[in-house]
Amino acid sequence: MRIILLGPPGAGKGTQAKLIVKDYHIQQLSTGDLLREHRNQDSDLGNEAKHFMDAGNLVPDGIILGMVAAEFKKPYLDPGYILDGFPRTCPQAQGLDNLLVDHNQKLDHVLVLEVPDEELIRRLTARRSCSKCGYIYNLVFNPPQAEGICDLDGADLIHRSDDTEATVQNRLKVYQKQTKPLIDHYEQQGLVRHIDGTGDVKQIYQRILTAIS
Ligand code: AMP
Repeated sequence: MRIILLGPPGAGKGTQAKLIVKDYHIQQLSTGDLLREHRNQDSDLGNEAKHFMDAGNLVPDGIILGMVAAEFKKPYLDPGYILDGFPRTCPQAQGLDNLLVDHNQKLDHVLVLEVPDEELIRRLTARRSCSKCGYIYNLVFNPPQAEGICDLDGADLIHRSDDTEATVQNRLKVYQKQTKPLIDHYEQQGLVRHIDGTGDVKQIYQRILTAIS
């Protein structure tokens, strides 16, 4: 199974992707996570991406496509994958189409998670994630048992530097302008399933299961 998860920042792509990979035994490929790993390792790519990310802007297509092409060569993606946060622009979608042809692969679904802007801002500014396992909490809807500590492994929780209100507003604008037009690209391929992304995590996941089964 090969899936793209599309949706604005804060729509729950990362959370839902983790549930899907567990049930379907496929892999999550998150360009945001890959970029954050590069930043943590202080690599050249990480340093190049940093200022785009901190301003809530997109990292240039060439960097992203190079990074994704390198992942496509790795065997861990062979059982199938869910693309989380990629593609985000028309040139990236075109680049992905080419990669799929090169690797003789086809997509099964493009899931579009839909959540109103006010709700996204509320979710993002209250989002915290585990510095070790990546589990995502929300201080309002899904707080950890002990403040600032992950329930699962006791590691510190972090507030992403791009989850501040000003940056979030810009990320939402960027989504509307650069990423939303991709829905048409995939509608033409008959792959799009619109998912109501409001409600609790389990409810949303049920809607996804209904759409892909
Ligand atoms: P995310 O974790 O998916 O919200 O991504 C965090 C940030 O990483 C975004 O705001 C962008 O600056 C950058 N980023 C992640 N994926 C992409 C992509 N496919 N294209 C361009 N920039 C990206």
